[in-house]
Amino acid sequence: MEFIDVRDVVFGYEADEEGKENKIVLKKLSLSINKGEFVALLGHNGSGKSTLAKMFNGILQPDEGQVTVCGMNTLDEDKLLDIRKKVGLVLQNPDNQLVASIVEEDVAFGPENLGIEPKEIRKRVDDALKAVDMYEYRGHAPHKLSGGQKQRVAIAGIIAMQPDCIVLDEPTAMLDPQGRKEVMDTIVKLNKEKNITIILITHYMDEAALADRLVVLDGGKILTDGTPKEVFSNVELLKKHSLDVPQSTELAHKLSSSGFKIGDTPLDVEECVEAIDKALKKK
Ligand code: ADP
Repeated sequence: MEFIDVRDVVFGYEADEEGKENKIVLKKLSLSINKGEFVALLGHNGSGKSTLAKMFNGILQPDEGQVTVCGMNTLDEDKLLDIRKKVGLVLQNPDNQLVASIVEEDVAFGPENLGIEPKEIRKRVDDALKAVDMYEYRGHAPHKLSGGQKQRVAIAGIIAMQPDCIVLDEPTAMLDPQGRKEVMDTIVKLNKEKNITIILITHYMDEAALADRLVVLDGGKILTDGTPKEVFSNVELLKKHSLDVPQSTELAHKLSSSGFKIGDTPLDVEECVEAIDKALKKK
């Protein structure tokens, strides 16, 4: 059974006070995500990524079609708490997610709300802070931390609820390069070492290239779905929809179109150097 199954989902936000027309945002969208996958959701602004992210744990519910998490339907009110225990959501701005004045209290907030025993909470908080490499900051004030550190504390707060899946909606958008790296390293580690399913919304193609699978949305539908190499090899399709590819992929594509044929689709600098080297040796 799929871990998350989105089936023929149609969704539109209610018309606002000005009576603007109810625009359909998700258009009969279907998508299955398996346990342990690392999926990056791409698409330009307004393509429906955040709306879809909120469908995964029942913050939003479909107008038509259905979303199930481990077979539990998000339309079933009785299952919502169980669904939210399984699928945690991390948002763009860590400042909006941190609520307490000490790091470890912040991380304890989620499990406290789930009614977990204090002894168990203590253990979960320590484990979660260790998993994001923030244990030594447990007694610090969150507002004094760097952006990357704050976002890692926000992720620890989700991990402490022991979800099977974490959905991250542009978690690095407000961070500097160092913070972005810290958060991406954490996400990859949680996926590879703890087998937590990751769904990452990002505008950074180098981050997307770290995923096992890319799902590209366009106008509330899936434009393409495949491994990073499969998706990024279709440079023309992505460009047509105003989407970027990693810089190394673009360089290789440009070299190929100007006659210097590169067989592979490199996703980073090392792969690009290797591909150019291979092509030179063939000449
Ligand atoms: P993305 O995350 O890909 O940028 P969103 O899911 O945020 O896309 O938005 C999809 C569409 O839904 C956009 O046209 C956006 O303006 C609209 N939208 C998003 N949130 C709301 C809301 N709360 N109320 C009304 N319309 C919204």
